[in-house]
Amino acid sequence: MNSTMALCLMLNDRLFHNHVENSYLHIDTMVNTRRNGLAVPNRSLLQLQRDHVASEMDFSWQPLGAGRPSDAARGIMTNGVTCYQVSVLQTLLHQPPFMRWILMHNSTNLPCKINPCIACYLKQLVAQYWDGSNPANPVDYNHNDPQSIDNTACNSGLFGNGEQEDAGLFYMWLLDELYHIGDNVPKAGSPYGIRWKPQLDALYRLTIQRLDTCIPCGYETPGPLQHDWSVDLGVLATHTDIQQAITHDLNEQIQKRCQRCGQNNPAQTIRRRRIAAAPKILCCRFMIVLPTGKIFHTLRYPEILNLQNRQEINTLPLNYRLTGVVSHRGGGLKGGHFIASVRGRRTGQFTCINDNNKASITLPQFLANPVQPPGRLCGPNAKFQAYMLMYERDDRLRQMPARPGKDGGKKRLRREMRALQG
Ligand SMILES: [Zn+2]
Ligand SMILES: [Zn+2]
Repeated sequence: MNSTMALCLMLNDRLFHNHVENSYLHIDTMVNTRRNGLAVPNRSLLQLQRDHVASEMDFSWQPLGAGRPSDAARGIMTNGVTCYQVSVLQTLLHQPPFMRWILMHNSTNLPCKINPCIACYLKQLVAQYWDGSNPANPVDYNHNDPQSIDNTACNSGLFGNGEQEDAGLFYMWLLDELYHIGDNVPKAGSPYGIRWKPQLDALYRLTIQRLDTCIPCGYETPGPLQHDWSVDLGVLATHTDIQQAITHDLNEQIQKRCQRCGQNNPAQTIRRRRIAAAPKILCCRFMIVLPTGKIFHTLRYPEILNLQNRQEINTLPLNYRLTGVVSHRGGGLKGGHFIASVRGRRTGQFTCINDNNKASITLPQFLANPVQPPGRLCGPNAKFQAYMLMYERDDRLRQMPARPGKDGGKKRLRREMRALQG
């Protein structure tokens, strides 16, 4: 390990464990890039750390093991109520960064020391889903992977056995479970690796910095960093587009006594939330269940989601490409039905998957909300609304202030990491 990496790991540890106390540490120790003689911050240190971890990971799509050459999706059988699980699993099974990462778990293939181990079940599911089987044949529920995942979920106490539950909650639970595997893995030299948590953070963790600004006097107060697995978006009747929901989620006017001018009037402080560190894969979840009941939204969402100006330091582009959608119909998240639409990773073929059934769809159908699955899947009048959107960060989409070069910006990252030492 070189000294830059050591420093990076050390800072990462410090930042992560003391993130509330040191919420602005990464601002003070910002890496700067000299431009026109001025120091210009490009990314927060936390973002640079995540990107450095990510730059050492494999995000490529390739057939697995003796896998079939086709990237055609397969259905997954349910036990009748596990649509909330398989719809989420389908999106993970179309995320090469996730799959390549989970396949590294327990690489010796000796019996895993963790039991039950959700990482092992997911690893087996990835291998089975993409094995040499005819993709027309769905993955069995009774094959031990989907059933073991279901059993582990129900044994957590969060999900009722034989009950339909919330796909969003299942997703959060799954990432939490994976994260806590990092508490148990043996340390250096083990086949589990020592960077399990930083890697999961690089893949899925969204970190938000809060900043309160007094409108009359301009006094700014930073708040604590907030770490999430998703951005949860409230939906207003006036919203037509996901960017409006994001703006609404990230900005609010509040009442707060100003430490400088002393004003304490309603709506005279702006609370802004900005991305301090963006993950490789971002889940946007629409909050469609309110205390008053379920709402139906038809918000548009783009294939490429531009979040550049949502960053705390917004000099560099931040773009995401849509790779999966979980949709819901019915009266509440514990009822109704969940389905998934996914992007094929080699051919770019889009597929709508309803449990064990599937059908090809077009890009406009992939982006349509309400989602209307092809007839044989859900009936001619079935209208599903988008519930969770899975976006994958793609830095090739960015228009850099400085050209990223052929290596996708790795050289630039190394240069900036070197600057950490000097
Ligand atoms: Zn395991
Ligand atoms: Zn003030």
